[in-house]
Amino acid sequence: MSIPIRNVAIIAHVDHGKTTLVDALLKQSGVFREGEDVPICVMDSNDIERERGITILSKNTAVKYKDTLINIIDTPGHADFGGEVERVLGMVDGCILIVDANEGPMPQTRFVLKKALEKGLRPIVVVNKIDRELASPHAAVDKVLDLFLELGADDDQCDFPHLFASGMGGYAQNDMETKGTDMVPMFEAILRHVPPPVGDSDKPLQLQVTTLDYSDYLGRIVIGKIHNGTITMGQQAALIQRDGSISKGRITKLLGFDGLKRIEIPSATAGNIVAVTGFADANIGETITCPNEPMALPLIDVDEPTLQMT
Ligand code: GDP
Repeated sequence: MSIPIRNVAIIAHVDHGKTTLVDALLKQSGVFREGEDVPICVMDSNDIERERGITILSKNTAVKYKDTLINIIDTPGHADFGGEVERVLGMVDGCILIVDANEGPMPQTRFVLKKALEKGLRPIVVVNKIDRELASPHAAVDKVLDLFLELGADDDQCDFPHLFASGMGGYAQNDMETKGTDMVPMFEAILRHVPPPVGDSDKPLQLQVTTLDYSDYLGRIVIGKIHNGTITMGQQAALIQRDGSISKGRITKLLGFDGLKRIEIPSATAGNIVAVTGFADANIGETITCPNEPMALPLIDVDEPTLQMT
């Protein structure tokens, strides 16, 4: 049986508090408990990065709230990473727009919001840092609405759910009248306003490669979303490349996200985001599929150089 999933991107101007807010969600989720043993941890982005000098390209975080697995995908705010932003936004069904209560929307807010609106996403707006003395949270909401209108958002998008938060204080609240005590309002907003991923776990496997990573230990690591089907550790699979060629192989490692870590999992169903090894030639946009009925997903554009890693 598959567990409920939500895939959500987090978008913000630099310094508006993305990292702090995600940390607060992690601390209060069922996944991350200090001092708890983590099952077969293959990679810890900090330790392994330090130890082996690998680059962690994607910033995927998974938190569990009630019974739902929430994949939170960080989005680079900078225009130089436009392609990466689009790929991330293509994997999710909703996004959280964080705006500093004092500064209001800034250039990177505008850049990423424009892309999110173009993808048809309806953002949840989180006005952050409300603990600060000068904070003007309602003015920030008004400015966000102005920006939505200016960017041509539709009526539904303009009717965005909004919350107030202090990532640093570890709380979120639905209005400015009652002070929040924890991050529950934000978890609830995600469950309520981010639709579950579409996809059929009973169909043949289709996983789209969205990010590449590499480690000396595991070789090329492919990160992507399972659009259809179920993927199982050790299974035979096929890679359909950009030029249409098909190569067969095997899933030699299957990793799911757990907090900031990646853990080995036996299988994963449609809608989930996973990391796999076994396809050293895979590139961004390509499809890992079932060897008997190989079917490619529509290619996604790559507008920046693909990393060459051997
Ligand atoms: P990011 O660049 O969006 O990931 O932002 P960070 O989470 O790194 O935060 C940027 C700065 O804002 C840091 O100095 C944080 O300590 C501070 N900060 C983040 N969240 C809050 C908050 O809720 N309240 C206040 N007062 N400061 C915050």
